[in-house]
Amino acid sequence: MPVCLPQNRSQSSGSSAAGLEELVDEIIAGGEDHVLEQDIAHWREDLRKRLEQVHQHPEQGLGFIEEHVRQATLRLQRLLVQKAMQDKANQVEEKCPDCGEPLGHKKRRVVRWVDAYCGKVKLVRTHGWCPHCEHWVFPADRALGLRADSTASPLVQEMCALLVSKMPAEQAEALSLRVSGHRLSRSTLAREAQRQGDQAIGVRQKLVEATVVQTPLAKAICGLDQRPEPFTLVIELDAWNIRERDKWGQTERERRKDPKFDRWHWVYTGTCFRLSHRCKKGRFKNKLRPIITERSYVATRGGLEALMQQIYYEARARGLAQAARVLVIADGALWIWNLVEDRFKDAVQRLDLYHASSYLWAVANELHGKGNKEARQWVKPLLKEVRNDQVAKVITQLEELKPRLAAAAAKAADQTIEYYRNNQKRMKYKDGRKRKEPVGSGAIESTCRQLQCRMKRCGQFWSTHGDEALLCLEMFWRNERWEMLFPHAKLTAVANN
Ligand SMILES: [Zn+2]
Repeated sequence: MPVCLPQNRSQSSGSSAAGLEELVDEIIAGGEDHVLEQDIAHWREDLRKRLEQVHQHPEQGLGFIEEHVRQATLRLQRLLVQKAMQDKANQVEEKCPDCGEPLGHKKRRVVRWVDAYCGKVKLVRTHGWCPHCEHWVFPADRALGLRADSTASPLVQEMCALLVSKMPAEQAEALSLRVSGHRLSRSTLAREAQRQGDQAIGVRQKLVEATVVQTPLAKAICGLDQRPEPFTLVIELDAWNIRERDKWGQTERERRKDPKFDRWHWVYTGTCFRLSHRCKKGRFKNKLRPIITERSYVATRGGLEALMQQIYYEARARGLAQAARVLVIADGALWIWNLVEDRFKDAVQRLDLYHASSYLWAVANELHGKGNKEARQWVKPLLKEVRNDQVAKVITQLEELKPRLAAAAAKAADQTIEYYRNNQKRMKYKDGRKRKEPVGSGAIESTCRQLQCRMKRCGQFWSTHGDEALLCLEMFWRNERWEMLFPHAKLTAVANN
């Protein structure tokens, strides 16, 4: 059965193979490279044979057609990338990219292989010495965005960063083969993701240190201009533990030096959003799911100061200066509230209701046994009082009860009393409900859970260097700043709009 392939532009109706052919035609029209014309003839013949095979097998459906077209075209794509890359390299002047000085001691036609998304491609370029900067340099490598310490092309760099920030490298290796048709080895994936993460940390540092907030969150900025009415900015903070293997095998020695030495460390996380961006969605009225349509994220192993610097930046990007009311929700951890006093002095503070309730539940469980009906009956009226801002009443009741309790229950009661006393001013839930504000820090807790799904798998150990790099990449992705790291990603966004 004959296979029809588009012969010219008017027949090519937007399929990827046809689009490629157009591109090839353009490249050929612009140059005199006859090798490519031959390649296209080969590709066409290869594709014809492959598709003929599919027709001969009635059991092979569209999946086989897709796979054959992909495999045949991937080879052609590799040649196209190689040619276009070489053309660009040939146009680069033999000058120092840093100072513009002509290069000396030039060595032409130095070969390097690049791992592109479609396979290995060969690049031939000039090497030279800049007498001004006193360094050896490949001007073409710079122009192409190739690094001296990596064989990965920019698109592969991005793929590694994206995949490894979402899943372990060994999973990403298998996935890369099926999704892109080209295998990225797990060592390339891990190494490249680390490099990109390190760079992302540098970019983030420059961002948060700048006085002007540069935000790609266009919608938030538009919203600010179009709707000048007062809005509430919600900030939620939390922390979770990650296990690191720095100084592996030296635990005892490190403990002798510092009794507090531990392999578990805090990852500080935060999110901020406008109250108006929180809504409920769902197909059925009685099963609505709360969602936040636009929000910013922070996650760092860099300590409290880093968290505060980053969350302050994100809050500014969400309009902190224009907010009529700023609300911070978190659990009772002292470090959080000290920092809130420092950085968000005028913010309304709210203790996460779930954490507040868990203290009363601990008393109930000690009194009546965990999961018992009596425990539920005992705690119910007290929880109601907490929800209705009658914390003082709850504290009084616990104090009256305490002398009659057994040791364990008395201890739980004591802890509750202390916790409530410390946080009393943060327990205004009735007011919160009236304003339709969240009373719990569920938004950040679900984010923490998602991050833990990646970072806290069975047997996983990290280094501070490694986990911070991946967390940083993930935040660039979530905060819609990915294109700051990988500018070519803009093209996909444009093509899909
Ligand atoms: Zn120079």
